[in-house]
Amino acid sequence: MTGVLAEPAALPQERRLVTGLPGPRSRELMARRAAAVSAAVGTTVPVFVERAGGGVVVDVDGNSLIDLGSGIAVVSVGNAAPRVVDAVQAQAAAFTHTCFMVTPYEGYVAVCEELARLTPGGHPKKSALFNSGAEAVENAVKVARVATGRSAVVVFDHAYHGRTNLTMALTAKAMPYKWGFGPFAPEVYRVPMSYPFRDEPGLTGAEAAARALALVESQIGAAHVAAVLVEPIQGEGGFVVPAPGFLPALAAWCREAGALFVADEVQTGFCRTGDWFACEDEGVVPDLVTTAKGIAGGLPLAGLTGRAELMDAVPGGGLGGTFGGNPLACAAALASIATMRELDLAGAARGIEGTMLPRLRDLAARHREVGDVRGRGAMLAVELVRPGTREPEAALTARIVRECHARGVVVLTAGTWGNVLRFLPPLVIGQDLLTEALDVLDEVFAAETAG
Ligand SMILES: *Cc1c(COP(=O)(O)O)cnc(C)c1O
Repeated sequence: MTGVLAEPAALPQERRLVTGLPGPRSRELMARRAAAVSAAVGTTVPVFVERAGGGVVVDVDGNSLIDLGSGIAVVSVGNAAPRVVDAVQAQAAAFTHTCFMVTPYEGYVAVCEELARLTPGGHPKKSALFNSGAEAVENAVKVARVATGRSAVVVFDHAYHGRTNLTMALTAKAMPYKWGFGPFAPEVYRVPMSYPFRDEPGLTGAEAAARALALVESQIGAAHVAAVLVEPIQGEGGFVVPAPGFLPALAAWCREAGALFVADEVQTGFCRTGDWFACEDEGVVPDLVTTAKGIAGGLPLAGLTGRAELMDAVPGGGLGGTFGGNPLACAAALASIATMRELDLAGAARGIEGTMLPRLRDLAARHREVGDVRGRGAMLAVELVRPGTREPEAALTARIVRECHARGVVVLTAGTWGNVLRFLPPLVIGQDLLTEALDVLDEVFAAETAG
């Protein structure tokens, strides 16, 4: 089994359906899942996985699906990427855990050095490592509060920052992420996002920022703001790309106000949008950056990186955790980063955009249900609406996704109203697979919007 996993390139890069989906073995496992796993944990595609690599996921019945989800933007370097597998195997054979706070190891330090090199800005930076994106975001708030001596945190409509208590407060959408889970953490203030498809036509990024910041000044007061926290392109919220000028205006206001500009790059980071980080597109340099998802080829790891003096403002022992920066996860991150560099996966993400964007625009030209096509790099989406309106079409979105799954293409949804199809292929996906997945999407749209 180990030898097989070490050679994912041997996995045929094809869409292959040998049973209906889900097949009999997946159905058996779904029944066990239903009996043993909380019904509150969702399933997007009801097939159980046996192997995955490159741009495919192979299920326990031998079906091979094209992966346009990457396990939610995680396996950007490909699933079971050979270099990651080798690094993890070697690390596992050496030691699996000591707790970095008890007896440190080089891998953790090397990941923090890479984060300092790769995140935007040439200033001195330091990092701390955690297990999940939510944990990194929570720690960003902790650092911001200590470093500024202030408490208010500004977040945006449609934001997603995680599922822990503090990050639920930061996340916008109630059902299902917050439903019934309150009370939530205080001193979190929500203001309007720049959402070009839904804003008044022509509203510039600077104007959208002014709209949000006017509320901040009147309802909080600039002097009380510890941090403005924003996803440079919103993830779960529907791949909302703010109008140009929005992020620079927020960052400039923060500098003026003595607040920290915090970029949540958990989904956008590590080459996903065609740069190492999405903030680079407009030359924005955040005070703090959170990373996770794509950082370590599928192993759980998250980072908080920021100006050295901010990261050092917290008293010793104030940041950490038992598993944070686990040695296997650090080895995987170093191998992933080396792979991204050597294969120029940022360039690959731009190539994916070059293939997908014209096809999605063509889809929009043929189907009036496609209200908007947006995104950057290998983070692209279409928003579905009732033709001629901006009314969300969640039911059609659900049908299209289900039918894509039935035809062997893994597609995810997003958006406050569940009416966004989002595409997050592994950055190593082959051109033929990508084209085939787009052909399937065309067929499904034709079938589901007919009549
Ligand atoms: C996924 C996500 C998180 C939460 O990450 P977890 O690892 O699931 O805790 C936070 N912020 C953004 C932007 C995300 O996409």
